[in-house]
Amino acid sequence: MDNCIFCKIVRGDIPSRKVYDDGDLLAFHDIHPVAQVHIILIPKLHLVSLMDADDSHTALLGKMLLLTSKLAKEQGLNNGFRTVINTGKGGGQEVLHLHIHIIGGNIPPMVRRD
Ligand code: 5GP
Ligand code: ZN
Repeated sequence: MDNCIFCKIVRGDIPSRKVYDDGDLLAFHDIHPVAQVHIILIPKLHLVSLMDADDSHTALLGKMLLLTSKLAKEQGLNNGFRTVINTGKGGGQEVLHLHIHIIGGNIPPMVRRD
């Protein structure tokens, strides 16, 4: 997709601090980290969101989920990490290319109940 920021990163048109790259997937540091570690993991395929995924993407999505642990550990997150997938306007998704946020460090509970 011509105007997609993450497709531009895949093509190398926009620089990024890559931490992983293979034929299918790319991971890089988020430009505005919300914690000590904040990695964005994307498929190289332009897929807008989980709402556009279907059975043909089962292996790709599985590969992405399984990679999160490896990338988190490489970033020193041995005690655990948070994965976030924002989907569509209702999910607060800003970049319309499916991605998993891998977040960790000294993070608070995601939902405060008080
Ligand atoms: P979303 O809100 O769509 O789930 O998250 C998009 C994420 O992409 C945000 O955390 C934002 O900081 C990150 N982001 C947006 N543009 C760029 C960019 O050009 N480079 C990098 N590395 N991250 C970006
Ligand atoms: Zn894209």
